[in-house]
Amino acid sequence: MPPPPAPSPSDGTHQNLALRRRFLMTIMAASLLWAGVMIVSSTAGWLSLGRTQESNTWAFFLVVAMLLLAARGWPGRFTLIAALFFLAVFLYIGAAQFLVPQDSLRMLLFFPSVGAIFLIFGGIAAWIAIAAALAIFAVAVMTNHVAVTPLAATTFAITLGFTGVCFHVFSIQARRALETVSQQNAALDVAARQDTLTGLLNLRAFREAIDAHFADARAGDPFALAFVDVDEFKSINDRYGHAGGDTILIAVAHTLKAAVRGADVVARIGGEEFAILMPRTELPDALGVAERVRAEIQGQAFALAAEALTVTVSMGVTVSRTPHCTVDAMLQAADMAMYAAKAEGRNRVVAAPKGAAGLS
Ligand code: GH3
Ligand code: MG
Ligand code: MG
Repeated sequence: MPPPPAPSPSDGTHQNLALRRRFLMTIMAASLLWAGVMIVSSTAGWLSLGRTQESNTWAFFLVVAMLLLAARGWPGRFTLIAALFFLAVFLYIGAAQFLVPQDSLRMLLFFPSVGAIFLIFGGIAAWIAIAAALAIFAVAVMTNHVAVTPLAATTFAITLGFTGVCFHVFSIQARRALETVSQQNAALDVAARQDTLTGLLNLRAFREAIDAHFADARAGDPFALAFVDVDEFKSINDRYGHAGGDTILIAVAHTLKAAVRGADVVARIGGEEFAILMPRTELPDALGVAERVRAEIQGQAFALAAEALTVTVSMGVTVSRTPHCTVDAMLQAADMAMYAAKAEGRNRVVAAPKGAAGLS
């Protein structure tokens, strides 16, 4: 039986990407709103941006609108779209430093832009953006396009640096937290699909495994399912206690796992009930496997309380073909055959009647 899948660290990376994609879409929408407000305000005469910056605002609006549509249509192009968006933001804000001299606080627009780059691209890109912002600002100050005192310019530069440090620490911590949560979720998911006593798949995971095999199989592929029930298990519990019964269940699970092929799936689907899914197996072969499993369990000396205990199982086997069956029909047919094995005297394998699970 294949072991349950281990928690995948790539799940965290995947969620991280999904989160960054949603964040990018949000700030693109906010930028679009910002540019729209600027366009309406300057058209209505509430702001005077100047003709060139008005054209820039229109261009920025259209570029962001197109990138937003592209981000929705091509989620796989996330990195390219994000890079183009931030380039457009920097060109637009950079131009504003030179074209809107009456707005002495326009360099503040660099703060949210740099923060967004930290959260989307991480440290290296963001520190390059901070250096670019400082360079643009320095040129604008030195060419007298931004009228600020040296003290105000220094305050801006230091504050942008502090903002960078804070975002740097936050973005690293946020990424780590997201990775941890994703890994814990993956581990919980594995635990929820595993039987804690034997380590086999549980019923839920077994159903999923059958569904997955149905989905992968070609039409007409045969599937066999064996239902295994330990005989007179209650008397084992009564004699050796619940813990003794558990030891037997673990040993039976071990024997079942060792007895089947790698492609077969073994699960514990109830108290002393197990099931084996055998993909691409016709009834005669499935009956052969079941008989071998039954004989191996009967032939094994289970050590319990310094005694060598013999345990037997009754098995029902059914076969169906894709797509003429359902998981429930197969489980029910195998269960009925197992009850027939009990009725015939236990410690035997019984095949479900032809057609019991939709055999064509
Ligand atoms: P039969 O041959 O007809 O199957 O008889 P049986 O005694 O095996 O069947 P029955 O269904 O009467 O008893 C099953 C017992 O399995 C009863 C229940 O207490 C016990 N059981 C269920 N789950 C566990 C478990 O996790 N550990 C232990 N030790 N016993 C369990
Ligand atoms: Mg039972
Ligand atoms: Mg039983």
